[in-house]
Amino acid sequence: MSSYKSKPCNKGCGISIHFDESQRSKSGKAIPLEDDGQPHNCPNALPYTGQGPSATARVSNPIERIVEHENHRDQRIREAQEQRKAEHDQFIREMQDLRVDIRKLIGTIEVLITALDKKEWTVNSG
Ligand SMILES: [Zn+2]
Repeated sequence: MSSYKSKPCNKGCGISIHFDESQRSKSGKAIPLEDDGQPHNCPNALPYTGQGPSATARVSNPIERIVEHENHRDQRIREAQEQRKAEHDQFIREMQDLRVDIRKLIGTIEVLITALDKKEWTVNSG
């Protein structure tokens, strides 16, 4: 049983770590170890590739989450724009239909006015 002195991780994650002279990375840096002897994968660490795939996966997750979040946001924006365009197109179609109806109504009124002007109307009240 080796004796060691634990201290809190200096990245503020709250886990106590220690170093073992026999545990060094390929670059020669002492690897921080947790009380169970496993390398400390600090959740507060910046990207660091010296501790194998699990550490890499763990620290790359926030970046992946940001990218994923941005993709979802872009998707929502695209859907909102498509929705707005569809509503706008529908509005234009309704306005065109309304224009046709108003034209017909004006035509009917003009026929009535012409008839009144020519007195082509009779009162057939029986
Ligand atoms: Zn830590």
